[in-house]
Amino acid sequence: MSRHALVEPRRPTQAERADHAVRGHLAALVVIVQQGTDDEVCLAARSEICRLVSAVCTALSPHRLDSSGHCAVCGPDCELLNRLSRALLPVWL
Ligand SMILES: [Zn+2]
Repeated sequence: MSRHALVEPRRPTQAERADHAVRGHLAALVVIVQQGTDDEVCLAARSEICRLVSAVCTALSPHRLDSSGHCAVCGPDCELLNRLSRALLPVWL
């Protein structure tokens, strides 16, 4: 067999396909919000905001703050809380 024989590419796992689909969906939403008409943006907001808020709440659920104000699971260096805070906090804080 030639050393240049074609190697079958690895098939993505179900989790990888789901991750790809979610990231693609989120990217499409960003494009709609940035480039869509007002009607398209309104339609996307009405259909997606509740789902997005639910997804963020679900992700945050196990990372509630303890009495010292740190993630009860990860401690003061909770990467999820830090990243979400940077992404969601208003710029004036
Ligand atoms: Zn955490």
